[in-house]
Amino acid sequence: MTKKTWSVEDSATLYNVADWGKGYFSVNGAGQLQIAPPNVPGQPNVALTDIIAGIKDRGMDLPVVLRIENLIDLQISRLNDSFAQAIDELGYQSPYRGVFPIKVNQQSQVIEEIARFGARYNHGLEAGSKAELMIAMATLTESGSYIICNGYKDAEFIDLGLRARQLGFQCFFVVETPTELNLILERAEALQVEPLIGFRAKLSTQVEGHWSEDSGDRSLFGLNANQIVAMIDTLKAAGHLDWLRLLHFHLGSQIPNIRDIRTGVMEAVRFYNQLVAEGAAMGYLDLGGGLAVNYEGGDTNYDLPEYCHDVVASVIEALDEGIEHPILISESGRATVAESSILLFNTLDVTTFEPGPIPTIGEDDHELLQKLADVAGDVQLANAQQCFNDAIYYRDELREFFRLGQATLRERAAGESLTLLVMQTVKSLLPQMRRIPKELEALHEDLADIYYANFSVFQSLPDTWAMDQIFPVMPIHRLDEEPKREAVIADLTCDCDGKIDLFVGGHKTLPVHGLREGEDYVFGVFMVGAYQETLGDLHNLFGDTNVVSVRIESDGNFEFVRELQGDSVADVLSYVEYTPAWLSEHFRQTAERAVRNKLIKPAQRREILEQFRESLRGYTYYEH
Ligand code: PLP
Repeated sequence: MTKKTWSVEDSATLYNVADWGKGYFSVNGAGQLQIAPPNVPGQPNVALTDIIAGIKDRGMDLPVVLRIENLIDLQISRLNDSFAQAIDELGYQSPYRGVFPIKVNQQSQVIEEIARFGARYNHGLEAGSKAELMIAMATLTESGSYIICNGYKDAEFIDLGLRARQLGFQCFFVVETPTELNLILERAEALQVEPLIGFRAKLSTQVEGHWSEDSGDRSLFGLNANQIVAMIDTLKAAGHLDWLRLLHFHLGSQIPNIRDIRTGVMEAVRFYNQLVAEGAAMGYLDLGGGLAVNYEGGDTNYDLPEYCHDVVASVIEALDEGIEHPILISESGRATVAESSILLFNTLDVTTFEPGPIPTIGEDDHELLQKLADVAGDVQLANAQQCFNDAIYYRDELREFFRLGQATLRERAAGESLTLLVMQTVKSLLPQMRRIPKELEALHEDLADIYYANFSVFQSLPDTWAMDQIFPVMPIHRLDEEPKREAVIADLTCDCDGKIDLFVGGHKTLPVHGLREGEDYVFGVFMVGAYQETLGDLHNLFGDTNVVSVRIESDGNFEFVRELQGDSVADVLSYVEYTPAWLSEHFRQTAERAVRNKLIKPAQRREILEQFRESLRGYTYYEH
């Protein structure tokens, strides 16, 4: 039987494209990853390599965050339409209103698009700070779109929200701590504006997953039952219980289990019933975030239609008879934007763990080298584990001799090569083994290549580092070739945490293609639109990457709708308080001293200063 040749379908399966690509991403016949125009099936697709060529033609380089603007639009539509459908099917009597939490992606390109496209659904914004509230007030155009103010609020924050009310916005203050209420009442009195007051309920429902601490008794924000009673009494005493309109809860982000969501909604509605019974006007139930996305496929046990259906059904079930159905609000962030952004970066270099040149070992050579050579010449399926153990033992002995000054550098190098030869041979025998011992299983990781790539984990994928978040990662071209190497990906920061070494399926290495001289090898990291740009930091002073927003047209063309140059070196230096003028002046003095000390000539000084100025204008990432 001849061995089947590698196909693009094999690549699609290997990299799980169908699971995370949701039908928008696929592999074309030329082995390139391509994207389909969202929501217009059957139309020509666009290869990501073509978009990269367009980016380069416009004078920008990798790394780049590529935003597919119509994927944001599509998610807003899906969210609103799915709720509308559940509401219709279940006979719910009030509408749904979405708000996007600005903290999830504060980039103006994203917020403007959400406000522009979301206007047709009155999709609003959630603000957790004064700055975010100001973004909401300046960006939303439809006064029917809600603004939800969460977070700790001072008088200025509250005044801004009251001004939004004056401008006709449905702007809600969500009371997060007991002390906030008095300040809201005081400022409302001072500005003579009726506020829309809500509060965050501390539910006892606790969810699974990374963010379980957002819920339960020890969650940081929200009012417990006693504090809710005190709030009702304060509002009653002030004669303003009619200002209390909204109940909000947030169980955590990326909730994997729909049963936890149902339990949370049911508990929240029990609170809602009691507030109505106490005489509060109410009318709005805000479900917070938590709607999960599928980074790996199988991250959750529900999808969007099921989420909407279960939420609406749970509200109907738990609501006391005679109470009007509240308007449902959700604050879905991750599910709205995660899929729309892709991080694209090129590979700069590779370290392999292949044996180096192995000299012929004879009787006069170091005894340990002779032993290693014997082991290397004897590896078979039957003795693979023993050969592996012996090789590691002799290698470690040789390293000890080296430390004591009793082996030379060349002897050590030969020993390392012989050991790698044994390890590689044992690895090649693994597929034939009936049972693979744990130690040998790790050979895939121990011998994986390190691909050095042009990006910073800390700037562009902080969740990879902070919480082992797995994002889909794959090469975006050469997918018609079998990827014969295994690799982890290291970034530019030379920090031992600056790497991607956990991949879809919990794999510790990624199948990749060997690098070719003079040819870029480009990786895409997918679903990075939520939290990553916002939480990224300046580790090693690698700044914001270039960002390009494209719109995929139904005819298979694409339009560059927005472009944002990444940080220059001068930009990142100014973030840590070095002004370019200060740096240039101090560097000029250094160069002048060098002229005085006859290290350089005045003409060289001019050249060096010009290069320094040019470098200040440059990109912080590796430039060709
Ligand atoms: N609302 C609040 C109050 C949050 O704290 C968060 C984030 O954790 C969200 C909404 C967004 O959650 P998600 O991104 O899971 O939709």
